[in-house]
Amino acid sequence: MTDPTATAATRWDGKLFRSGSWLPGLGTETLASQEKSTSRTLASQALATEADVDAAVTAATTAQPGWAAAGYDVRAGLLRRVARLLEDRADDYVDWLIRETGGIRGKAEYEVGAACNELYEAAALTSHATAEVLPSHNTGKLNLVQRVPVGVVAAITPWNFPLVLAMRVVAPAIALGNTVILKPAELTPVTGGFLLAELFADAGAPPDVLQVLTGLGPQAGEALVRHPGTTMIHFTGSSRVGQHIGSVAGGMLKKVSLELGGNNAFVVLDDANVEAASMVGAWSSFHYSGQACISASRHIVAASVADAYIAALAARAKGIVVGNPLDDGVNLGPMISETQRDRGLDLVKRSVDQGAELVEGGTFDRLFVRPTVLSGVTPEMPVYLEEVFAPVAPVIVVDSDEEALRLTNDSSYGLVHSVFTGDQARGLAFAEQVRAGMVHVNDTTCLDEAHVPFGGFGLSGSGGRAGGASNLDEFTERRWIGLQRTPVAYPY
Ligand code: NAD
Repeated sequence: MTDPTATAATRWDGKLFRSGSWLPGLGTETLASQEKSTSRTLASQALATEADVDAAVTAATTAQPGWAAAGYDVRAGLLRRVARLLEDRADDYVDWLIRETGGIRGKAEYEVGAACNELYEAAALTSHATAEVLPSHNTGKLNLVQRVPVGVVAAITPWNFPLVLAMRVVAPAIALGNTVILKPAELTPVTGGFLLAELFADAGAPPDVLQVLTGLGPQAGEALVRHPGTTMIHFTGSSRVGQHIGSVAGGMLKKVSLELGGNNAFVVLDDANVEAASMVGAWSSFHYSGQACISASRHIVAASVADAYIAALAARAKGIVVGNPLDDGVNLGPMISETQRDRGLDLVKRSVDQGAELVEGGTFDRLFVRPTVLSGVTPEMPVYLEEVFAPVAPVIVVDSDEEALRLTNDSSYGLVHSVFTGDQARGLAFAEQVRAGMVHVNDTTCLDEAHVPFGGFGLSGSGGRAGGASNLDEFTERRWIGLQRTPVAYPY
């Protein structure tokens, strides 16, 4: 297979995607993006300045009314063409994703497929009703409630599933008549930014419907949030940065959508099939080295099955092959960065210092971290309290369903939880008492479907939902137009 990363980079190296083409930024600083397994440089990203942001917002504001006025079939056609191009280029884009995110081939293939689904779902959104007629208590009155685009959407996105998490915002926002400025994470400018720019350009998107500004969060990202011309901020990332963005953009009374972190529970009740639960539990914590917002961060296990569950989980962890994801047979690639690796291992160390037992793993070589199982975890320990975001499965033992439920809900986050049981009715009853945006019975926490509302409670988000028809509420405003068709008499 040819390596698409060997020759492609020059067209976007040091450039920003503006006016439908690759243009030099107004600043001179650049930052390399590296292949995570080898540290080889894949691309050089320009670091957008405040002046670049200003120019992009002006262009997006100018382009937006024309794009909103384009027929629904024109907008749908663009999104379908982008989807077909992505399908055609899947092999190359999978390669980019493997190298730039460090994920294995299956994860990269999932991402490309999921991004296509986002595009087709978004194309279908364009033909949803754009207005409704409501009754009036006034004779002869027509109450028309229209959906209108929000305007200029700034999309600030993370590195872990860079292609699909960017497409999840870009596609529906564009479908509904907005223009978008995308700022991908610094660790994944190609797969979170350049590839999307290339797809939309090659599919014939009008200039400035999508612009991609690479750059640093506290500079380019902050400038997008603070610019008065960005009418909506859509942020996917950490709760810490999300809280900051929420306070700045909220203070400016902008529309803000925040998709944030989680401290997700994987609950195993006493009647669960331990082998099946350990397989799904291992996947939920170790898939992509636990670096998903929906990874399982705490395994809450009934005492009567805990020893068997911990042994089965540790055996699965031991069997996982860690290495370069381009090599055959590798289950887990490198972590994204030394910072993420050290943060995860520090949570493990501090928890072991407080009495947790290291059952499996806990070691690393460069960015390659062995899947780790901890037992004897208590609610005071760092691995229990914080989002782990590393291949670590902390196990907490409980004596009853009530205690399992209390611990599941004992978190400021509320993104997703799973419960494993032999009794579906018991699982459903448990799920109905869980405080989170998503709950799965007898399945992994790591699930997302393009047409289903995705999002969380509390520190996990601002209440909005991504996916399918929820995107109508995310990316449009309502406008009430009243038409009085018969004369009305007022007192004076
Ligand atoms: P992060 O918050 O560090 O960065 C996310 C994005 O924000 C990046 O593009 C970054 O450059 C930008 N940014 C940083 N500081 C900024 C600032 N002051 N102003 C504007 N933008 C700024 O998060 P990350 O490390 O890239 O991603 C991991 C986090 O994302 C985890 O907490 C994970 O749970 C969360 N996440 C949530 C979802 C979801 O859908 N709920 C999905 C994926 C990841």
